[in-house]
Amino acid sequence: MKKAFASFFGTTPERVFLFAKGRTALYAALKGLGIGPGHEVIMPGYTCVMVPSAPLYLGATCKYADIDPETYNLNPASLDGLYTPRTKALIVQHTYGISQDMGPVMVWAKAKGLPVIEDCCHVFGSKWKGRLCGTFGAASFFSGQWNKPFSTGLGGMLMVNDPGLVEKVGKIYEGAVAPTSAEELRLKAQMAAYDALVRPSTAGWVTLLYRGLSRLGIAAGSSSNDEFKGKMPSGYLKRMARCQEARGREGLSRIEGLIAHRKAITAIYDTGLAEAGFKPLKSAPEAENIMLRYPVRVANKAELLKLALKKGVELGSWFEIPLHPEGIDMEYFGYSKGMCPESEKACSQVINLPAHSRISASQALKVMGFLKRFGLPA
Ligand SMILES: *Cc1c(COP(=O)(O)O)cnc(C)c1O
Repeated sequence: MKKAFASFFGTTPERVFLFAKGRTALYAALKGLGIGPGHEVIMPGYTCVMVPSAPLYLGATCKYADIDPETYNLNPASLDGLYTPRTKALIVQHTYGISQDMGPVMVWAKAKGLPVIEDCCHVFGSKWKGRLCGTFGAASFFSGQWNKPFSTGLGGMLMVNDPGLVEKVGKIYEGAVAPTSAEELRLKAQMAAYDALVRPSTAGWVTLLYRGLSRLGIAAGSSSNDEFKGKMPSGYLKRMARCQEARGREGLSRIEGLIAHRKAITAIYDTGLAEAGFKPLKSAPEAENIMLRYPVRVANKAELLKLALKKGVELGSWFEIPLHPEGIDMEYFGYSKGMCPESEKACSQVINLPAHSRISASQALKVMGFLKRFGLPA
């Protein structure tokens, strides 16, 4: 899988590392960069809580940058206000597949002498000024979770762009544990269950069931209860299992088709949303975006999500709070209410529409019909 992954980005397999999760890949990158106690890491305050957990496990502190309301990505104008002499790294995130405005970010980081890490968990194939997202920073990490650009069951990939970092990350990877055969078996069983159960009409219910089963310890969930409290779980620094790698290889072999499909579904949403009175996405002229999910602002988010579940329409809720998911105490991760007002507003308004391979054109039109009938533009 490393070979196929590296070839997509025009790099070499020695620079790609396969871990059990995206967050572990981030942890390895930060550790390789020497992030530790007393250091600060800046990241967007509109993300998955497993992003701040990685620097926290290393003893560092997280600082949260607000987002640009059009792109849902880190607003470069907020960086100066967050910088201190203790700042040691900057994480940017290409949210929903929308590429971060890399120009000002790279200039700012270079002036401060900071390494940039790209959170590519939503992005695979998007470009900024013709260059692939994931190739700008010192390193970039990817997630192979169920709902990401391509799946490895669960899993994470790290691509190291800075040659000076390759050996350091290699040592960290050597220290990571391999999954046991029992763990591998369980992952295989989950993949089979996922394939058998998940359709756009069932996705909402299956997600609820899966969360319940993982809370009970029956399924291997994406996060443990400890992690939601900012505590590093045992077996965190783990490698990817062989069955996950095989699945990733399969996904990568179809990636160009998947990207074309995402573009086609996105075009349906662009037109359909405008017709239904919603605001379609406005892409920056420098960006070529391959959407993972398509964000839409509505005035009745909670009600709409409930109704979609009932009617078998697949809608997403990322992000529910600045450090997703809902129900966790963000104070554990150093986020206090009011830190990122644009992010908080987006959390209360944004739902997202699927663009994956199981969504056909007619299902995308059904989603548009649902929004037109029940959604209230924000
Ligand atoms: C899913 C996700 C992650 C974490 O990925 P895991 O593989 O679950 O660790 C990190 N960042 C973003 C933006 C994500 O959506």
